[in-house]
Amino acid sequence: MNYIANIPEAGYKKRLVIIGGGFAGLELAKKIDKKQYQVVLIDKNNYYQFQPLFYQVATGGLEPSSISYPHRKNFQRNKNFHFRMCEAQSVDPEKRIVKTNIGDINYDHLVISTGCDTNYFGNESLKETTFALKSVSESLLLRNRILLSFEEALSAKDEGELKEILSFVIVGGGATGVELAGSLADMKKSILPKDYPEIDFSKMEIHLVDASPRLLFAMSEEASAKAAKTLKKRGVIIHQDISVKSFEKPYVEISNGTKLRSRNVFWVAGVKPNSLAGLDESAYNRGRLAVNEFNQVNGYEDIFALGDTALLISDNSPKGHPQVAQVALQMANNLAKNLNNTIKAKEWEKFTYADRGSLATIGRNAAVADLGKFRFGGRFAWWLWLWVHILSIVGMRNKVSVFIDWVWSYLNYDVSLRLFIRPKFNKMYKEE
Ligand SMILES: Cc1cc2nc3c(=O)[nH]c(=O)nc-3n(C[C@H](O)[C@H](O)[C@H](O)COP(=O)(O)OP(=O)(O)OC[C@H]3O[C@@H](n4cnc5c(N)ncnc54)[C@H](O)[C@@H]3O)c2cc1C
Repeated sequence: MNYIANIPEAGYKKRLVIIGGGFAGLELAKKIDKKQYQVVLIDKNNYYQFQPLFYQVATGGLEPSSISYPHRKNFQRNKNFHFRMCEAQSVDPEKRIVKTNIGDINYDHLVISTGCDTNYFGNESLKETTFALKSVSESLLLRNRILLSFEEALSAKDEGELKEILSFVIVGGGATGVELAGSLADMKKSILPKDYPEIDFSKMEIHLVDASPRLLFAMSEEASAKAAKTLKKRGVIIHQDISVKSFEKPYVEISNGTKLRSRNVFWVAGVKPNSLAGLDESAYNRGRLAVNEFNQVNGYEDIFALGDTALLISDNSPKGHPQVAQVALQMANNLAKNLNNTIKAKEWEKFTYADRGSLATIGRNAAVADLGKFRFGGRFAWWLWLWVHILSIVGMRNKVSVFIDWVWSYLNYDVSLRLFIRPKFNKMYKEE
């Protein structure tokens, strides 16, 4: 027997169910007119996560609570809004039902904005042996792994084991890989030697392994070259155009035959869409949900997809859009406008993406920016990166706390969050 999730009746309003409260889902839930629609937002977590700053949590620069925001707090004063913390499992488009682990939820309009998860490109054993960075909890796990390394280094049995403990292998030369490598290099230079005076940090190695021809492949060649130059100057060893073949602890084998001995392999090499069962095969293209310019999923009038999980191929975007926050936000805004206009019988507007450019930071005082014709790097790009991120973080308290943490660490060449906090098993979290 199917359980029905306990959500109040929508009455004369249409029920809009949004699966996933990330960049796209949250923006849509905020912008939709709740006088016209009853909104049901469901998410695996009861909070929103600001993914671009996961690496800062991982390297002790920010607290997880500074980049997360509770969904319920966002909608405290909204009458026709209901949040349920649950996992969507499948969709039954005939019956217009979403099946979740707390029961079935019926919908009039369904929006799928489930984002992506880490892609191991078929090598699933890497999931068990490497560390990913796709959620706040993974960022904390990575932070613990980094901190634990230095504690372990103090009791290394021999030089070989010391090398293994002090080697960090980051796989993936996109923005996350570059940011993580730059941040570790900053820690190596100005923070770790003060905390661990007994360790010889000249033995710490940071490897960045990237399968594409250049770092930051989605950005301009100038940005890639600047990023590579800065990272090399800061001691990062770059393995370009080289992929990871296997990781049989403690050796990472890379495609040129080299074996890197390491306990710390961080996998930030790619993403794959989070998909749900129940939709026809024709709804998918390259694993993503194929949508038209109104974000309707191929073959379904009342099902929409937004953000990373959606693929919109059109004359304006023959290859689809990049999987970045701006695309998710803009798609959500366009859909909100169209759904809100339905009652006024206004014609729907097609989605067009306004590219506002890209920024990536490489560490203290160093970033690269591609803003249309303007391509630059260095301190100014870094300040711009800081402000853009502070403005984008959800919640005033979070903006202030990130600002204070960043000013503090800039002035003191330090990050203050080097706490190794381990969860203890508690039967409260055990699944029945
Ligand atoms: C480490 C990292 C750094 C990044 N840096 C940048 C950057 O600097 N600039 C940039 O523009 N982009 C960046 N991105 C990409 C950007 O974060 C994504 O493009 C954006 O989050 C996509 O938004 P979304 O709404 O599609 O998905 P998400 O924001 O991922 O949200 C998906 C939501 O769906 C929920 N969910 C998933 N499956 C289910 C389910 N079955 N049931 C219920 N809930 C579910 C998840 O819990 C999540 O809340 C980065 C991504 C990562 C991982």
